[in-house]
This record gives sequence, structure tokens and C-alpha cells, in this order.
Amino acid sequence: MRDIYDAIIVGGGPAGYTAALYLARAGLSTLLLEPMYVGGQMATTGKVENYPGLSAIDGYELGARMQADAHAFGAKTVYETVTALDLSSDIKKIATDAGREYFSRSVIIATGASPRRLSLEGEDRLIGAGVHFCAHCDGGFYRDKEVVVIGGGNTAVGDALYLSRIAKRVTLIHRRDTLRAVGREAEALAARENVRILYNTRPVEFITEDGALTGLKVRGDDGEHILASDGIFVAIGRVPSSELVRGVLPLDGQGYIIAGEDTVTNIAGVFAAGDVRTKPLRQIVTATADGAVSAEGAIRYLDGMHLL
Ligand code: NAP
Repeated sequence: MRDIYDAIIVGGGPAGYTAALYLARAGLSTLLLEPMYVGGQMATTGKVENYPGLSAIDGYELGARMQADAHAFGAKTVYETVTALDLSSDIKKIATDAGREYFSRSVIIATGASPRRLSLEGEDRLIGAGVHFCAHCDGGFYRDKEVVVIGGGNTAVGDALYLSRIAKRVTLIHRRDTLRAVGREAEALAARENVRILYNTRPVEFITEDGALTGLKVRGDDGEHILASDGIFVAIGRVPSSELVRGVLPLDGQGYIIAGEDTVTNIAGVFAAGDVRTKPLRQIVTATADGAVSAEGAIRYLDGMHLL
């Protein structure tokens, strides 16, 4: 006989583990499927300063604590990547890259978002070997080296600030003539002596020697030139991880699952929580809120009650 869970959650970030905590605590059999490591994007964030009550906690630790809290009430995590979802009947079927199938009466999609790629030639090969998406994770490899940060938002500015304490020099390139970043960090960055900001500048090509990254060709107001760089940190926003449900759940123009504050989707018993859904503010605190709301929705759905 196949096991049928009350709830399966896809994605182990703050939305997913909050949903798991609420579901398991309510006595429902709960499985969470996560490809790699817990915490989602916050695991690669470094210090989290805006989650109330936990001043400057490490993002990875916060993720691990959220998992431990959910597991304490009986939720389980399986580290497999979901490859297909069949949400067409009351018992939903989820296939993974391990060749297994899981069954559940309700599903919460909490797959979050991932860093947007530059889509330049050679990017795939250089990721982790010169090209990075997380300064807090990989910045330490570039002590006293030349690094380039690409982007103009808060992530790029925060990454450049962080790297300025480690690297010999940081060059921030941004495609417009003003930063998109708001707040004090942009002022702090401008005051750093080992940081330069190149506006109206776009990345064109990775420069390599014997396969190793040595620079970045950029195009600015004065034409094309090469910035010598040992490491390049790409911080150009995020894209929702919604490919699994494309054609199944409605997506907006950017690929976010269209769902309101109730996290309800167009399929009964299927909820979308956290950064993967349409919402005005993507933060850990709004993801955890979604996790709780989606769990409550699933509980009410399973009890045959009206949704919230
Ligand atoms: P973002 O605000 O969307 O900024 C992305 C930046 O990348 C923009 O400057 C954009 O340029 C640029 N960009 C996009 N595609 C590009 C491409 N193909 N080539 C070159 N540049 C490209 O993303 P984010 O910085 O990750 O921030 C996301 C949200 O989180 C924001 O609301 C941000 O305020 C918030 N956040 C807050 C904090 C904090 O408060 N400490 C820290 C991090 C993030 P354009 O400006 O031309 O569009």
C-alpha cells in the first residue's frame, strides 16, 4: 500500500518549514522535499538583521533552526529534487529525481526564487570557479584580490560593501546612471576607498586564460574595455522557481505563481507560499507568514471547511 501524506511541501526555505511546523504541530503527516540544503535563499544571506527577535542571526543557522522546530513535531525532510507534479486528482502525485513517487492530499509549493543569471557564454562552467551569486558564501576566496560586482540593487550594494572588507578592490558595474538600491548602504559604499562604481556599464563577455577567469569585458559610454577580475559576483535580481508548475498553475509575466495573501491557487488543496508567489514584499518574515497561512489553508481544506 502506498503511503499518502496529509501534506507535502515542496521547498525547504522559511515558507516551507513554517508550513511544515504548523502542519505537523496540528497532527498532520507532513513531508518536505528539498533538493539540497535547508533555508533556501536565507541560507546564503549571511547575517539576517530583519527577522524580529533574532538579532543578526546567521541565515544558515536560522534555516537549520526552522527545520529542527518542524522536525520536533514530526515533519520529515527528504533531500530529493521534484521533477514532476500531478495535481489533477484529490490524491496528488509528486515524482523526484531519485525515481520515487510521493502521494499527498494537499500540496504547498514553496520553491522560492533563485539568482538571475547573466546568460553570457561560459557562465555555467565558471559558476563557483570565478563567477558567484553569493558574496557572503564565496567572498572569502577573494582576500586581497580584484573583484567585480554586477547590479545596482540592494543586493549588489550589500555584496560590494561586504567584499570591500576582504578584496583589494571592488568594482561595481551598473547598467543605469543611478543605483536602484535604497538606504544607507549606498552612501557607505560611496565612502569606501577601495570601491569604484561604473555607471552605464554592462557586462559583455567573461575573459579567461587557460580556462580560468581573468576579467570581464564591459561596454560603457566610452566603448568596450576589460576589467581585470579574479572573481565576479552577479547580483541582478532573482527569478521565481516556478517551472514545475508552468502550465498547471497561473503565472504572472515574471513567472511568479498568481496567488493572494490566502496562498490559495486555482487547484483545490494546492497552495503557493513565499517568494514564488505574487506579493509586494519578499522577505523572510513574509515567507514565514505565508507558510503559516498556507498550512492553515491545507488544514481547513483537509477538514472540509471553508478556506480563510
Ligand atoms: P533588484 O532590486 O531587482 O536589482 C537588480 C539589479 O540588477 C537592478 O539594478 C537591475 O538593473 C540589474 N539587472 C537586472 N538584470 C540585469 C542584467 N541582465 N544585466 C545587468 N544588470 C541587470 O534585486 P536585488 O538587489 O536582489 O533586491 C531584491 C529586493 O530585495 C529589493 O526590493 C531590495 O530592496 C531587497 N533587498 C533588501 C536588502 C536590505 O534591505 N538590506 C538587501 C537585499 C535586497 P536596473 O536597475 O536597470 O533594473
